[in-house]
Amino acid sequence: MSVANGRSLLAIPGPTNIPDRVLQAMMRPAEEIYSGPMVALTDSLLADLKRVFATTARTYIYAANGHGGWEAAISNVLSRGDKVLVLASGRFAVGWGQMAAFMGADVEVLEGSWRAAIDPATVEARLRLDRDHAIKAILMVQVDTASGVANDVQAVRRAIDAAGHPALFMVDGVASLACMNFEMDAWGVDVAMSASQKGLMTPPGLAFVAANDKAHKAHAKADMKTLYWDWTARQGAEHYMKYCGTPPEHLLFALRAALDMIMEEGLPAVWKRHALLAEATHAAIGKWAEGQVVSCNIIDPAHRSPSVTPVVVNGADAGAISAYAQQICGVTLGSAIGDLAGRAFRIAHMGHVNAPMVLGTLSAIEMALQALDIPHGEGGVAAAVASLAKGAGLPSRPADKGVAETTLALATAPA
Ligand SMILES: *Cc1c(COP(=O)(O)O)cnc(C)c1O
Repeated sequence: MSVANGRSLLAIPGPTNIPDRVLQAMMRPAEEIYSGPMVALTDSLLADLKRVFATTARTYIYAANGHGGWEAAISNVLSRGDKVLVLASGRFAVGWGQMAAFMGADVEVLEGSWRAAIDPATVEARLRLDRDHAIKAILMVQVDTASGVANDVQAVRRAIDAAGHPALFMVDGVASLACMNFEMDAWGVDVAMSASQKGLMTPPGLAFVAANDKAHKAHAKADMKTLYWDWTARQGAEHYMKYCGTPPEHLLFALRAALDMIMEEGLPAVWKRHALLAEATHAAIGKWAEGQVVSCNIIDPAHRSPSVTPVVVNGADAGAISAYAQQICGVTLGSAIGDLAGRAFRIAHMGHVNAPMVLGTLSAIEMALQALDIPHGEGGVAAAVASLAKGAGLPSRPADKGVAETTLALATAPA
């Protein structure tokens, strides 16, 4: 018997839940593309992306997914034969590196663990060996969506500086931007990229790149440039060329609404919400883990991503848990990829998510563990509730707006 009817929950790490306000922002006619409101819209988006990346550097918007953003970043700063160092910590930096190799770069992968963050000391040691500075760029992800690790970007920057290495520092923030702190300028990131469909709560189809002066110096000499991605072509006054053709108008309307929501909530509050929901998720898994079957993939809690949590399943069928959550409860969990494929599932808590959505997802998993007779410690959901009750604090008003307040106002209004 399924109890799935009702609003279904999507707990996959992208595309994520799209707020109604963002969906509704797209329900409108197209605009003229050369002048007028679209030009102002583009200006406002490029400016607000700077706020999200925490940079004064130039920003670019592409009609593309995250892979397009990767290609944009690489093609604008590298030349064929350039050596690139990829800092592995799961699947995604490696994927970015494979793309660079396809484009003609000489790619070296600095191996890392699937269960831990990038080790800055290993990075420093490798860079010290590169005495003639053959390495032109260093690629890493802030959050690896496959392993669930949150790498310390600032610590890697310090390692690069400690080695005195001049390579461009390029960071993928697809699964972390607007989920956790990212400080492009303060952390000395030269090229940052992201995409619309994860923390930014917008449909898939937009990629973002921010590039500082050092990156633009490399851009001047790069020979991998192609017109579609080319920064120079997008810098002119002509609006049409900012997208190398027709702007993806409705995605831009959607992004405007999503950035408005993020700015209204405030970035620090957005990050805090993600941190609390992630901690609640980890608390639940910590309880279940007492049964010796399920556990968090990333061992050190300090390096677990606030946006996605892969759960390893040892000695039971991970797919059965996902199938149960889907078919009986209407909750779609993320499947595991890469090294974890077939032996884990992923819980996304990124973007437009709140406590009841995450608690509902955790409840569906706990139901699955019980119904499928998978050994687990009891009280996972209760631990998540306790974690949130402790972390979220109390309302600032006795009752939130809505029925309760209206009733109160009517009751106390003079007759
Ligand atoms: C999702 C993701 C990508 C790829 O984005 P697509 O839009 O699927 O091309 C790249 N990097 C990270 C860290 C991601 O999570």
